[in-house]
Amino acid sequence: MAHPKEERTLVFVKPDGVQRSLIGEILQRYERVGLKLVGVKMLVPSAPQVEKHYLLDPGWKRAAGEKAIKGYEEKGLEPPSREPEEIGGRVLENLKNYLTAGPIVLMVWQGAHAAELVRKITGGTEPLRSDVGTIRGDYVLDSFQMADQDKRAVRNLIHASGSAGEAEKEITHWFSADELVKYRLVGEHILYDVNIDGILE
Ligand code: GDP
Ligand code: MG
Repeated sequence: MAHPKEERTLVFVKPDGVQRSLIGEILQRYERVGLKLVGVKMLVPSAPQVEKHYLLDPGWKRAAGEKAIKGYEEKGLEPPSREPEEIGGRVLENLKNYLTAGPIVLMVWQGAHAAELVRKITGGTEPLRSDVGTIRGDYVLDSFQMADQDKRAVRNLIHASGSAGEAEKEITHWFSADELVKYRLVGEHILYDVNIDGILE
């Protein structure tokens, strides 16, 4: 079994994060916890690239639709359709418009439990409900209700892979092997080595 410190995850700063000059702030949150940046680049994604990204998970459209329908019901509102695939398709169309609007900054982070740790720091999908102290909770105020009313994607600054398995597929989708750098950070000695030695003179 691979050591937990080998785990990698994919993050991208969405166009709203770039426009709000939050690239550095977001990057710092992942860096300061001890994760290692092993790949980074900026690009303007195409609609097919965005679609493929979400559909790497074959159940995504249905799951996104079911989640959205549940959200409407919790608020006592009638969803625009009861068919999860159809609602999921609408969410995807909105995401394509949102993510192709400008540059995004893609990053691959490596370290112990990278996927779970990055999700914790990033916060829940809907900024209105994301915990205080998380990036989405602290830096943006959007809600599903407002996004749905205005027929657009919720602006939540960041994409972060849902699991290490999801991450591996997403990393391959966005990065070629030669864009990922294998290197050692001196700080990893203190984070991971069994014996903390070589400190005292
Ligand atoms: P994430 O992994 O936290 O970004 O969330 P998901 O993978 O479940 O969904 C991807 C994106 O779809 C989110 O960032 C939102 O933009 C959008 N989305 C997901 N669920 C909903 C929902 O219930 N309602 C609306 N309006 N958008 C949603
Ligand atoms: Mg997701």
